[in-house]
Amino acid sequence: MNETGVVLTDIRKNFGSLEVIHGIDLRIAEGSFVVFVGPSGCGKSTLLRMIAGLEEVTDGEIEIKGRNVTDLDPSDRGIAMVFQSYALYPHMSVRENLAFGLKMARTETAEIDTRVNAASAILKIDHLLDRRPGQLSGGQRQRVAIGRAIVRKPDVFLFDEPLSNLDAELRVSMRIEIARLHRELGNTMIYVTHDQTEAMTLADKIVVLRDGRIEQAGTPREVYENPANIFVAGFIGSPR
Ligand code: ADP
Ligand code: MG
Repeated sequence: MNETGVVLTDIRKNFGSLEVIHGIDLRIAEGSFVVFVGPSGCGKSTLLRMIAGLEEVTDGEIEIKGRNVTDLDPSDRGIAMVFQSYALYPHMSVRENLAFGLKMARTETAEIDTRVNAASAILKIDHLLDRRPGQLSGGQRQRVAIGRAIVRKPDVFLFDEPLSNLDAELRVSMRIEIARLHRELGNTMIYVTHDQTEAMTLADKIVVLRDGRIEQAGTPREVYENPANIFVAGFIGSPR
C-alpha cells in the first residue's frame, strides 16, 4: 500500500445522547481520491467535518500524513474544505476572495500573488479576478471556491457535495474538472456525494455509508461487481 494519507480509528460521534457515527475505521492512501457515498442523513458530512476539525469527535483518532490531528484546530490540520454553498465573500472581488485566507495567515504578498495566479490558471478563472461573486455563474463560483482551497496548498482536499447546487450539464463538466485537478495536483481528496454516478466516475475508492456505518469500501469496480449486500447493490445500482 502507498504511504498513508488519512487514517480514521474507531471514530464515533454523538449529538446529545444520540450516536450518529458508530465506530468508523478507514485508511486512505496518500494521493488517492476517496468518495463517501450514501443516502441523506447517513453521516457523510459529519464524518468529513470531523476530519476537517469543524466538528469534535466523541471518540476515536484521526491521523493525517502520520500526524495525530484529533485535537488540532482546522487551520493546523493541512486540510482545505470546499462547500456546496461556495461560502464566498460577496463584497470582495474574486482575487480578494482567493487571497483572503492567505492574508489572514500572514502569507507574504508576493507569495499570495504567485499562488492566486497559479490557482486561477489551473481553474481557468484568470479573466474573472476583478469580478464579484454576484457577477459569476454557479459554475464560476464553484471554481473560485475550489481555487480558495488550492491556494492554501493543503495535504488533503475535503469536498462536501460541491456540485449539488449546479444544473445537470454543469455538474458533468465540473466533475471532469475536478478529476483533472486531482491528476494535476496529486493530493489526497475526500469527496462526499449522494450521487452514485459522481462516486463511480471520480473515485479510486468508494466508501458506502449507511446509518453511520461503513457498508463497504472498495474500488468502484469491486463495489459494483461484488456488492457486499443488498443495500450496496441497490444503492450503487449493481445488476443482481
Ligand atoms: P449526510 O451528510 O450524510 O446527509 P449528516 O452527517 O448531515 O448526514 O447527518 C448525520 C446524522 O446526524 C443525521 O441523523 C443528522 O440529523 C444528524 N446531525 C447532523 N448534524 C447534527 C447536529 N448539529 N445536531 C444534531 N444532529 C445532527
Ligand atoms: Mg451532508
